[in-house]
Amino acid sequence: MLYSQIAGQEEIKTSLIKSINNNKVSHCYIFEGPKGMGKYDLALVFAQSLLCSNFTSNPCNECLSCIKINSGNHPDLHTINNDETTIKREEIDTLIESVYKKPYESDKKVYIIKGAHEMTAQAANTFLKTLEEPPGDSVIILLTYNANLLLPTIVSRCQTVKFRNVSKETIKTYLQKNYGTSDEITDLAAEYSKGILNRAVNIVNGNDGILSKRAEIIKLFEKIISADSEIIYELESYFEENKDNIDIIIEIIMMWIRDVMFVKNNLDDLVINKDYIQLAKMHVRLMKGNNDLIEIMQGTSDNIKSNVNYKLAIDNMLLKIQEVFK
Ligand SMILES: [Zn+2]
Repeated sequence: MLYSQIAGQEEIKTSLIKSINNNKVSHCYIFEGPKGMGKYDLALVFAQSLLCSNFTSNPCNECLSCIKINSGNHPDLHTINNDETTIKREEIDTLIESVYKKPYESDKKVYIIKGAHEMTAQAANTFLKTLEEPPGDSVIILLTYNANLLLPTIVSRCQTVKFRNVSKETIKTYLQKNYGTSDEITDLAAEYSKGILNRAVNIVNGNDGILSKRAEIIKLFEKIISADSEIIYELESYFEENKDNIDIIIEIIMMWIRDVMFVKNNLDDLVINKDYIQLAKMHVRLMKGNNDLIEIMQGTSDNIKSNVNYKLAIDNMLLKIQEVFK
């Protein structure tokens, strides 16, 4: 693998490469960021870099060590908790046993611990002991979406590396280069992925379900604006059932409203849901008011997050949508 195969996170890559070249590699890293940011992929390239015999600014992909890593069986690279479930003390005991042994082939051993926040209290306390007297030839990389879920004593002994959301442009370039996706799908994926690369990839591959969710929500929107206020009561059970997905539902509605506004203002180029542009044109014709619907939607989303009455927040949102359309 090469660093360039991972989109974005340039600062992190530069600093990791520098640490190898300057012989300043830490014994423990925490890679922190939301799921889908490519933490594991970057941890793998970094591990390969550490074990590669000819590392310069990328692993060589030719030495024996690189070949073994690329085929998934290097004896000095260990991935722990692949399924990201609970990490029990026994697993950490096994890790410690291995940490204090000599490497098999390279001069280092690398341990990648997925879902590191899943360590039980006993496991975490046992793990802490390795960090108190870290063996010089081991590098441990803890992956987590939230470092606050780890013991503070663990965090203070590791170097935290925070993954940032990737820009839309970076995601678009990456998709076009690696998947040859059409502009239309690329725009859609970049927009809906919210800076999370793997999510964009899943949208392109059709694994994410976001496109079917989008079709469902746009249909729902159509229903809301073409019915009378009774519909608000009819939809109560729908919104109750979809409470866990409300973020994405509001997100899709907001994007849709924005698209309708773009069309209204003759800015068709800026439309995200280009494949629905004819419907957007129809909705423009149904627009009567011009209040700050986007702001209201954002407010609804914030209110739900801060635990106001869910049903009231949704009813109010639907009412406001109906005031603007119809
Ligand atoms: Zn190599």
